Amino acid sequence: MALRNKISEILDSYDKSKIAIATLCSHSSLQIFYGARREGFRTIGLAVNQKTKFYDAFPLAKPDEFIRFESYDEILERADELVDRNIIIIPHGSFVEYMGTEKFEKLPVPTFGNRAVLQWESDREKQREWLVSAGVEMPKKISDAKEIDRPVLVKYHGAKGGRGFFIAKDYPDFKLGIDESQPYTIQEYVLGTRYYLHYFYSPIKKDGYRVAEGSLELLSMDRRDESNIDEMYKLGAQEELKKLGLYPTFVVTGNVPVVIRESLLPKIFDMGERVINRSIELFGGMIGPFCLETIVTDKLEFKVFEISSRIVAGTNPFISGSPYSDLIEPELSTGRRISREIKIARDRGLLHKIVS
Ligand code: AMP
Repeated sequence: MALRNKISEILDSYDKSKIAIATLCSHSSLQIFYGARREGFRTIGLAVNQKTKFYDAFPLAKPDEFIRFESYDEILERADELVDRNIIIIPHGSFVEYMGTEKFEKLPVPTFGNRAVLQWESDREKQREWLVSAGVEMPKKISDAKEIDRPVLVKYHGAKGGRGFFIAKDYPDFKLGIDESQPYTIQEYVLGTRYYLHYFYSPIKKDGYRVAEGSLELLSMDRRDESNIDEMYKLGAQEELKKLGLYPTFVVTGNVPVVIRESLLPKIFDMGERVINRSIELFGGMIGPFCLETIVTDKLEFKVFEISSRIVAGTNPFISGSPYSDLIEPELSTGRRISREIKIARDRGLLHKIVS
C-alpha cells in the first residue's frame, strides 16, 4: 500500500483524544515538548543512543515518556509502537539529517507537514530550481571553477552545519582548498548581514496575511553564531591567517535573536508568499514552519542562500515569544504554533490536510 494511504488509514484509526506529540531528543525538542504541553498534548521523546538526563533540569519541557532506540533503523522497525501511542511526529533538522532523508520519507508514522518537500529541499540544485522559479534572488552560481572572478563560497552537498565550506577568491585558491571526492557547488560570496527568517504557513487558517488557501505568519528571526569565522577577525586579516594554516569555518554553535528594519517586512512577506505559492505548484505545498536563510546587502536587497522546510534551531531563543509572534499572540513559539495547528486541525477534522 502506498505510504500516503497507509498514513491516512493510521490517522483514521487514531483515538483523537489521545494524540501524542513526539520528536527526536535534540535540536529544538525542548521548545517542541514545552509548546505541545501548553496546548494540552502528551509528549514523547525518541532517544537514539542519546543522553536524556539534561531534561531533568528543564521540568516544563521534559517529555512525559522516552522511547529508546539503538539505531535509526530501529525506529523504522518499531514504528508500530509509535502508532499504538497515537503519535504525530514533529520533524526537525537533526531528525531528518541523522535518520537520512530516504528513511525519514518511508517512516510509517503520521508526520507533521508535507513529506514531498524533502525531495526538493535535500538537493541543492532542486532547491535552487524551486527558489529561483519562485522569483526569489539567490547568490550567483559559478559552474566552472576556472571562472571564479570574485570571492566565492565552496559548499559540499549535505554538509552538516557548514563543515568543510571554504572561501576562495580565484582558481588557484579553489584548487588549494577543494576535496574533489565530494560533490560541491560554488556560490558567489555575498557580503552583507545575515537574517534567518522563521515563517509558518497554515493551509487551514483563514485570516491574517492570506496566501493561497491559508495564511502566512512571521514568528521570529535569528542570526547564527558560526565558529570560527565569527571571531576570526580578532586575529587579523584572513590572508595573513592563511599563511599560518588558519582557515575560516562555518560550524553553527548557537543562535542570537535579531529584528530587522521594519521597512524590509513587506519584502519578507513577498518572498515567503512566492516560495509557498511555487511549492503548491511543484509538490502540493509546504506546510508549517520554514526558514529562508538570507543575506541583506548594503543596497537593502535580499539574497536567499538556503531554505529549511521545518522548524530550525534558530527559533530556540523564542520559547516565550518574539517581537513578531507577540503581535499575533503572546508567548507563541514556533514549537507551540505547531501543536496549535495540530489541535485546530484535530478539532475541525482536518488532520489529513497537515499530516503526511
Ligand atoms: P548553508 O549551509 O548554506 O546554510 O551555509 C552555511 C553558512 O555559510 C551560512 O550560515 C552563512 O554564514 C554562510 N554562507 C552561505 N552561503 C553564503 C553566501 N552565498 N555568501 C556568504 N556567506 C554564505
